[in-house]
Amino acid sequence: MRATLTFLGSGTSMGVPTLGCPCAVCRDAAEPGSKNRRTRPSVRLEFGGHTVLIDTGPDFHAQALRENVTRVDAVFYTHHHADHILGMDDLRPLTFKNTADLPLYADEATAAVIRRVFDYTFRTVDRYPTSARVELHTLPQEAGAYVAVFGAHFQRIPVIHGREIITGYRFGSAAYITDMSDLAPESIALLQGLDILILDALRREPHPSHSHLDNSIRLVELLKPKRAYFTHMSHDLDHEATEAILPPHIRLAYDGLQLDFDIAPTVNSEAAR
Ligand SMILES: [Zn+2]
Ligand SMILES: [Zn+2]
Ligand SMILES: [Zn+2]
Repeated sequence: MRATLTFLGSGTSMGVPTLGCPCAVCRDAAEPGSKNRRTRPSVRLEFGGHTVLIDTGPDFHAQALRENVTRVDAVFYTHHHADHILGMDDLRPLTFKNTADLPLYADEATAAVIRRVFDYTFRTVDRYPTSARVELHTLPQEAGAYVAVFGAHFQRIPVIHGREIITGYRFGSAAYITDMSDLAPESIALLQGLDILILDALRREPHPSHSHLDNSIRLVELLKPKRAYFTHMSHDLDHEATEAILPPHIRLAYDGLQLDFDIAPTVNSEAAR
């Protein structure tokens, strides 16, 4: 089954342009159509007539208008930081159109924060009447465990994000690994044989909780996907200048970029448990 992935956002938590920053990249990002304009990180997957999101950040409303997101059938969350969850409330009008509650999937730690931040949505007593009609499911915790939705498997890929272990996802021949300072050792085997690898690459200099350019290039060389795209980028990386120094199979994502790939059958089914 073929799928289309759209980058709703490719920027770091502060977005590009970064508020109050006069740098050349931020100035360029303010121009219409600039590939340096990066909203908060999220992707949309379309396959078999269904739409699945990974994360709903604070820019989700604008991203959904830009990319004509008119339905959502499931959302997978990577972790609890604001740049990944704060758009959950903007799912409301889309959930009113669905016949059943919209399933949200998150690991235990992420689900706990979503429940706390959007307490009025999940309250069973005295629930706010026009809250999002969502149902929060906890992901199985083991590396490589998967949830099957609409004929595709979403596998949990544990990744290290500073002092936390958060969730990356593999779905068929593609993987989305945002917010990562390193891969968990058990995840290396789960990321073999990829067509597309999407990886965090925040900036040029090392950072305590994010991968930097050289480290992400090293991981691409280790995992050997056919193509790799970097995301969660700050204003430190100018789109054109950075792509010019990258090998041709590694590109920078940009808002609105679309990629086609096989989401099923699961390529590493022997690794899927
Ligand atoms: Zn982030
Ligand atoms: Zn800047
Ligand atoms: Zn984060």
